[in-house]
Amino acid sequence: MINKFNIAKISTDLFDLFFPETCLNCGNLQEIRGKYLCFFCLSEVPLTNFSFQWENELENSFKGRIPLHAATSLMYFEKNGMVQKLIHELKYNNKPEIGTFLGKWLAEEIRLSKRFEMIDLVVPVPLHPDKQKKRGYNQVHDFAHSLAEGLNARLGLHLLRKIRNNQSQTSKNRQQRVVTEEDQYLVTDKTLLKGKHILLVDDTITTGATMQACADSLSAVADIKISLASMACTV
Ligand SMILES: [Zn+2]
Repeated sequence: MINKFNIAKISTDLFDLFFPETCLNCGNLQEIRGKYLCFFCLSEVPLTNFSFQWENELENSFKGRIPLHAATSLMYFEKNGMVQKLIHELKYNNKPEIGTFLGKWLAEEIRLSKRFEMIDLVVPVPLHPDKQKKRGYNQVHDFAHSLAEGLNARLGLHLLRKIRNNQSQTSKNRQQRVVTEEDQYLVTDKTLLKGKHILLVDDTITTGATMQACADSLSAVADIKISLASMACTV
C-alpha cells in the first residue's frame, strides 16, 4: 500500500538517484547524507585533537602574543590535501554548509574536553565588507553559528568590523603583518563584552596575525577572557 510515508521514501530515493551526494575528497558516494565525506575519507581527516590538550602547539604559538584561556583547531592544514580541498569548496564553491558540519564537529570536541569551560560569545573573524559582498557570504559565519549553537553561547556575527582591505601581504614577514593588520578591526558594540569569555573563530590559522589583531581590538575595549578556535591550522 502506498501511503505518504512510502511516497516520501520514494521521493528521497529518486532524489538520491538524480542528485547523489558524493564525497568531496574522493568522489565516491557518501554513506551518510550531509557528511560531505565518505567513511574512508572521514577516517583519514588529519585531526589535531588540540581540544583535549593543554599547551598544545597552537596555544604555544600564541604565547607572549595574546593572553589566552585555550585554543584549538579541528584539523591540520596540508597543502594539496583533503583539508585544503574542503576549505576551498567552502570559500569559493558556495558550500557554506561545510562550515556548519565542521562547527558541529568541533563544538562536540570542545564540549567533551571541558577545557574551555563556559563560552559566552562566539565571534567570527570578519571579512572586509567589499570582499564579503563579492563572495556573497562570510565562510566563517555558518561555522561560528553551529559552534555557538553547540556550546549554548551567543553569536556575535557583526561584533567586529574589518575597516581596511589589506592587500596581499603574503610576501611580508610575520612582524610586518602584525603591524599592518593592527587597528584593522573595529568593535561595534562593547557593552556585550564586559567580563565575558569570547571564542574567536576563523577558518584557517596560519601566522596567527589576524587572530592577534582581532583579540587585541576586543581586549582593548573590555576586560574579557579569550579563547580561539579554527577549522584548520598550519602549526
Ligand atoms: Zn571519500
